Amino acid sequence: MPELPEVETVRRGLEQKLNNFIIKKVEVCRDSTIAFPKNKEEFIKGLLNSLIYKWDRRGKYLIAQLKEVQNESDQFPLENFQNNGFLVVHLRMTGYFKFINNSTPPCKHTRIRFFDKNNIELRYIDVRSFGQMWWINKDQSLNKIIKGLGSLGPEPFSKEFDANYLKKVISKRTKSIKAILLDQTIVAGIGNIYADESLYSAGISPFREARTIKKNELMKLKESIITVLKKSIGSGGTTFSDFRDLEGENGNFGLQTNVYRRNGKECRKCGNLIERQKITGRSTHWCPRCQK
Ligand SMILES: [Zn+2]
Repeated sequence: MPELPEVETVRRGLEQKLNNFIIKKVEVCRDSTIAFPKNKEEFIKGLLNSLIYKWDRRGKYLIAQLKEVQNESDQFPLENFQNNGFLVVHLRMTGYFKFINNSTPPCKHTRIRFFDKNNIELRYIDVRSFGQMWWINKDQSLNKIIKGLGSLGPEPFSKEFDANYLKKVISKRTKSIKAILLDQTIVAGIGNIYADESLYSAGISPFREARTIKKNELMKLKESIITVLKKSIGSGGTTFSDFRDLEGENGNFGLQTNVYRRNGKECRKCGNLIERQKITGRSTHWCPRCQK
């Protein structure tokens, strides 16, 4: 599943590619991709004549701010256009966007197609179809309509996310620290790969009961999370094997993992073999010698 760095890479790609993209046509190839409004006609109507003004990210959600543009010949600055709500996207397992200049027929996994007046297309493709989209009008609350968004914990890069915060939220938790890192209500955007990599980098065993982890270890863990995420964003968020960037390219190059999917291989620090075991249903990779 794409995690924070992959979603951030997609966000940056969308922001670069979609200059002044005004939605003139929407084609819904699979109704169930639309999570809200329930009526797909309402979704389509809401998005027409929307300028995709800005892309934000919160956890693994992509959030496009929309502006209503009825008359393109209007010359006043874009900021002055009326807000037209938000297009929110969650890629889930296999969703990705493709930006298409010369029209090509859609593949069978195409779910939603957005076109501008020049027929330039932003295509959303999703093999496993768990991805979702919402159009939320400007008078509605994103956090209320999208429960997962409303309950998200702080962003790893925010000031709020520090050792004090972590200590407070985990002080009574008997769950493993790995399960805690995967909990989106505690910290937003971390999934299996970056949980394993951060814990390795901090020297903390993924099996440790969260409440037993000391403050100085939490400081190290926070630093490790930041470092691992930043490094991955820098290399295009490319450790996820099915992840595709906006060109539809499989981005499986760049960042080298230390433990993730390296079970049976030698630890880069101590030479001991990396092990793999399931924690709450998720494959967990770690070095038993380096992580205590
Ligand atoms: Zn080791």
